[in-house]
Amino acid sequence: EIHTCHISPLLSLIFKILGSAGFLGVNRPVEYGGLGLDYSYSVAVAEELGNIRCGGIPMAIGVQTDMATPALSRFGSDELKTEFLLPTIMGDKVACLGVSEVGAGSDVSSILTKAVKKGDEYVINGGKMWTTNGTQADWMCLLANTSEGPPHRNKSLICLPMNLPGVHIARKIDKIGMRSSDTAEIFFDDVRVPCKNVIGQEGMGFTYQMLQFQEERLWAVANILTMMDNIIQETIDYTRQRKIFKMPVLYHQSVHFKLAELQTEVELLRSLLYNATALYIKGNDMTKLASMAKLKAGRLARELGDSCLQFWGGMGFTSDVLVSRFYRDSRLLSIGGGADEVMLGIICKYMDMLPKK
Ligand SMILES: Cc1cc2nc3c(=O)[nH]c(=O)nc-3n(C[C@H](O)[C@H](O)[C@H](O)COP(=O)(O)OP(=O)(O)OC[C@H]3O[C@@H](n4cnc5c(N)ncnc54)[C@H](O)[C@@H]3O)c2cc1C
Repeated sequence: EIHTCHISPLLSLIFKILGSAGFLGVNRPVEYGGLGLDYSYSVAVAEELGNIRCGGIPMAIGVQTDMATPALSRFGSDELKTEFLLPTIMGDKVACLGVSEVGAGSDVSSILTKAVKKGDEYVINGGKMWTTNGTQADWMCLLANTSEGPPHRNKSLICLPMNLPGVHIARKIDKIGMRSSDTAEIFFDDVRVPCKNVIGQEGMGFTYQMLQFQEERLWAVANILTMMDNIIQETIDYTRQRKIFKMPVLYHQSVHFKLAELQTEVELLRSLLYNATALYIKGNDMTKLASMAKLKAGRLARELGDSCLQFWGGMGFTSDVLVSRFYRDSRLLSIGGGADEVMLGIICKYMDMLPKK
């Protein structure tokens, strides 16, 4: 169990320990230090990481394993994988994902960061916002516009070393939750990176990122499921020993019925996650189920955090208990990695309800 408030000096140490034990490349190729297992094993690891008593540390690990690296692993050249994927899996390099910008979050296609080809290099200008692990990352999986073409076909994912001249970490953002995770605003001022650092085909970045998001979303669901189990259990334990009106808080029907209902919802979500995972392992598109699971997870986490916190009374409003931390940390789930409304938009598209654009 890792109990910590401040991640910065610890992140590379934690990653080295996890990397040496094989946990940072569970479903990645063996040639690049991975374990070569199928995605269900990654889901199992994400579930286990939910036992860490905060949201920020697991999220930092998830960025490394399931958010910044899936596209590189799937589409990157051997040379890029040797330079970036292998040390990331070994825990020697910290990765971050640079998609969102100040003016573009939900609408990824409207990002403004540009990578202009000059000889065999790209010159990058622009900036990224909300970059998790951003103040300490060794490299970024960067989404940038590499041409003037249509917005879904003019972008590329680029492996960008963070120590290059012109990469400026402007600030660490103060947040209501996930406070043990560093979230950075970053600017690029004429940053030069070799063209060979493009992941896969130039112009395919938007598509690759949409695929990469699916692993991010499943990871986030798996991780929060265990946290939700734990919050319910701790709430049962606390309310069983806390007496009001001469009996435990738990024995009031409105309390134990609500906890039973929440646990039922958690189990439904678990089934959805496992269904999506099973589809994915067989090579099928699980975008619709992953979007549904992410939507449901964000909403359930909000309901569960709020209901359980209530049953702790004043104690729930202190910083001393896990439930209050969960209440703050888990709020991100309905926003990050695609907000609830973005998930609904994807689900609608898959249900074929609206005219095609
Ligand atoms: C702590 C934290 C960590 C993050 N880490 C990363 C990271 O590592 N890398 C990265 O690239 N990004 C990261 N993000 C960014 C995150 O993915 C974005 O915040 C998210 O996609 C929403 O974008 P936005 O904040 O620009 O909100 P906006 O795009 O401004 O959206 C605002 C709100 O509009 C609503 N909305 C969206 N679409 C619709 C619609 N179609 N119809 C109706 N309403 C809609 C939603 O409620 C949404 O919350 C992180 C964010 C946070 C807060």
